[in-house]
Amino acid sequence: MISNQYSPADFELTSRDVVGRFAPSPTGRMHLGNLLTALVSWLSVRSRAGRYILRIEDLDPQRSRIEYARLIEEDLHWLGLDWDEGGVENIGEHGPYLQSQRSGFYLDALHRLSDLGLTYPCTCTRADILATQAPHRTDSSVIYAGTCRPSVMPRPLGSPFPAPLRPHSIRLWIPDHTVIDFTDRVYGDQSVPLDSECGDFVLRRADLAWAYQLAVVVDDALMGITEVVRGNDLLSSSARQIYLYRLLGYPVPEFAHLPLVSNPAGQRLSKRDLSLAMDYMRDRFSPQQIIGWLAHIAGLIPSPEPCTPRDLIPVFSWHSIPSAQAVTVSPLS
Ligand code: GLU
Repeated sequence: MISNQYSPADFELTSRDVVGRFAPSPTGRMHLGNLLTALVSWLSVRSRAGRYILRIEDLDPQRSRIEYARLIEEDLHWLGLDWDEGGVENIGEHGPYLQSQRSGFYLDALHRLSDLGLTYPCTCTRADILATQAPHRTDSSVIYAGTCRPSVMPRPLGSPFPAPLRPHSIRLWIPDHTVIDFTDRVYGDQSVPLDSECGDFVLRRADLAWAYQLAVVVDDALMGITEVVRGNDLLSSSARQIYLYRLLGYPVPEFAHLPLVSNPAGQRLSKRDLSLAMDYMRDRFSPQQIIGWLAHIAGLIPSPEPCTPRDLIPVFSWHSIPSAQAVTVSPLS
């Protein structure tokens, strides 16, 4: 039996118009880290009678598979997590809900930014960028050194760039010393200098694939999302997204990032952690066991006792979500 250990004051975020979303990339079966995001984003919305959207982020044509999207839906149903809009069947008025079907919206946004004189073509390859980036970062993200950046930006209105003949990406010009401040619901105040975080970033890749940063902002804005809940690997990229929201004139949602889930060796979960992936876990555990385990990891219940997502609605509080960088889990036994 789960007791309500929190006071109503925890629900200061109450609003009738909360719209949240889960936005998985269908590149494999979900693992425990994805499930934590799904459960917490769902509880945050359901505890305030909001609307919940499932968006399929299949921007990467090489790695995305519709079969994985269907398995994600099937796994969410099995766990007892429902949604009001979205999914591969495109149910709802803000569709389509697969990013591969939303190019027209991204193109409109790109045109708006280009019309403001804020974009330019870049013919650098990844190897060029890795060779020139400075300062070097220890994580895998890449800072663009500005090799193709025109000397005069923003570009004077009415003077479009001749498109280079070579394949080229389109980058967004970021004025020097741009710093984005925001408050994350879990990690608190953030201050992100965009030039040392990423530099001018890509909006559309040379192979014409849309960049995640542009697509996620356009989709969250057009779908009326009021809160973005996801893993903290995307915490700093929220700054790029806030910058885009402002340029495009969209209201900025609230951001809440969750600790990453690590395996017992302290590594972030990957497709190799088979014992923490859905196919393995579904063969061995009930949905209630997995939900109870996730709720315990999320700090919502003191021990991992079996329960349903609905049982957790009364005890859900953002105050109990751990703000550690990562939470380490061992396979359920
Ligand atoms: N599609 C991303 C993922 O599966 C999540 C992006 C987001 O929530 O903004 O990791």
